Amino acid sequence: MSGHDGADKADGADGSDTGDGNRTTGTDGGSLGRVTPEELTAESPFTLPGFFAALAERRLLGGRCTECDTVLIPPRPACYACGSREIAIEELSKTGEIVTYTEVARPAPAFEADAPLTIAIVELDSGARLTGRVAADYDAVEIGTGVSLTVRDLTEKEREFALDHEEEWPLHVFEPT
Ligand SMILES: [Zn+2]
Repeated sequence: MSGHDGADKADGADGSDTGDGNRTTGTDGGSLGRVTPEELTAESPFTLPGFFAALAERRLLGGRCTECDTVLIPPRPACYACGSREIAIEELSKTGEIVTYTEVARPAPAFEADAPLTIAIVELDSGARLTGRVAADYDAVEIGTGVSLTVRDLTEKEREFALDHEEEWPLHVFEPT
């Protein structure tokens, strides 16, 4: 005797629900809520192409887990902290501060011309952390330096080394504020 799982009780159902099985009760109220595999098209913000398409328009999208408040960049269909699939898409602030940083003397060939590079993990105002280049010398930044995320297209040289599907993806760079 299992059967009903109570998923529909919020409706105060009058008993007319014939409960034909597999329907998923979404979160009402306009949140994106659960994502089905069919919804994961290239345009979806839950996919990397969708995330980068928004980034090219200077919008930083994240997913916020409505269960534990973890922010996921890029957005994923399930929370990697608690496993919940109740993820809401949000446009996030692009400012934050450097948590840790390093210098890369010999970067990948596409970025050779810019060496040495400063690479940092930045904690954004949303609490999410994002790794990226910093447009400053290693000696010019420190832990706690405020930065703002900017976006630029790839250079010709960078394009040569990019995988086909990455050629249209912009590069994010943190600028000290
Ligand atoms: Zn979570």
